Amino acid sequence: MIKVDQEGCIGCGLCANMHPEIFAMNADGKSEVVDENGDHEAAQEAAAACPVNVISVE
Ligand code: SF4
Repeated sequence: MIKVDQEGCIGCGLCANMHPEIFAMNADGKSEVVDENGDHEAAQEAAAACPVNVISVE
């Protein structure tokens, strides 16, 4: 399950740029998971790149 803690998201857009098949920016400018069962390797890559570490993959 791929999740974003939206409270901590600073809206940099990195995850959605890297993997738009998994993440999208919502109307509040926060990242939203569009495929919570998406590719875990891709999600881990985005999680590692997230500047505030709010993406979790389990
Ligand atoms: S990389 Fe992190 S801070 Fe940036 S939009 Fe994605 S979840 Fe938010």
